Amino acid sequence: VKGSSSAAFFTYFCIFCSLSHKKESLSGARVLVTGASAGIGEQIAYHYARFGAEIVLTARREALLQKVTEKCLKLGAKKIFYISADMSSPSEPEKVVQFAVQKLGSLDYLVLNHIGTNRFQEWTGDVEYTRWLMQVNFLSYVALATAALPTLEKNRGALVVVSSLTGRMPTPFTTSYSATKFALDGFFSSLRHELVMQKRDVSVTLCILGLIDTDSALEYTRGKVHISASPAPEAALAIIRGGATRAHEVFYPRWLQQLCCLWTLFPSSGNHVLRTFYNYSSP
Ligand code: NDP
Repeated sequence: VKGSSSAAFFTYFCIFCSLSHKKESLSGARVLVTGASAGIGEQIAYHYARFGAEIVLTARREALLQKVTEKCLKLGAKKIFYISADMSSPSEPEKVVQFAVQKLGSLDYLVLNHIGTNRFQEWTGDVEYTRWLMQVNFLSYVALATAALPTLEKNRGALVVVSSLTGRMPTPFTTSYSATKFALDGFFSSLRHELVMQKRDVSVTLCILGLIDTDSALEYTRGKVHISASPAPEAALAIIRGGATRAHEVFYPRWLQQLCCLWTLFPSSGNHVLRTFYNYSSP
């Protein structure tokens, strides 16, 4: 596995033990993973495959999905299918969920992970880009979750939403992206309340990630930030564990939780320190 480390294997072992202990094995769990052709989504797919899950993968690039599918089969996936779909099209989310339910019979986990291209640049005034990114990063998540809720509810299933530090604590050069991630927090944290109040047993896990060493993230942050990136396979395991243990929130790396608390207590100095991590000379 690209970027794997002994720490990742240790975490994997711990998840395996904690799940076995609770007799909540992921073996045979029916999972739909979005953004699964690359990056963290690809690693999520490989881990679920090792656990012996039944998986449906989605993203746009069919050739990559095909490769990830083949590797998942070798790693131990019980069943695996893929469907190519572009989440900028409002009709696709429902189609994808229907495909997954038709192929697997039902769903236990919906892992929402895909994102449209993040420009990582100053705000240029491109409102159309923000509208498009809202569709890909936020509205499609809402539509996918809505379509999957009835089947998840039947199985006491789990909704897992991949977000970012910049969806909790605004950071420079991420205006539109940050807005989509804050929107996810607002929508899914409110939905979690409602599900509890309605006694509908579907858990909602929001995953707050720091910089992760995926090709795309390294490319768009290169030369712009002084922050070291954490390994994607470990991030993927933290996400899977959060979903399996029905945690409300996952912070990866873990120290991000303390960082968010400090920032809430001391926003002004927190923002000052934050800006020192960015390479920027004003025009
Ligand atoms: P990548 O850019 O590596 O992967 C994005 C995935 O989304 C790909 O599978 C891509 O496949 C798919 N995708 C892109 N556009 C669309 C679209 N229009 N419709 C459907 N699928 C699409 O992202 P990461 O792995 O880096 O990020 C994964 C998640 O982690 C995201 O939610 C991100 O916000 C979060 N995160 C990542 C961080 C990082 O540093 N990497 C930091 C904090 C959070 P394809 O092109 O084939 O469609």
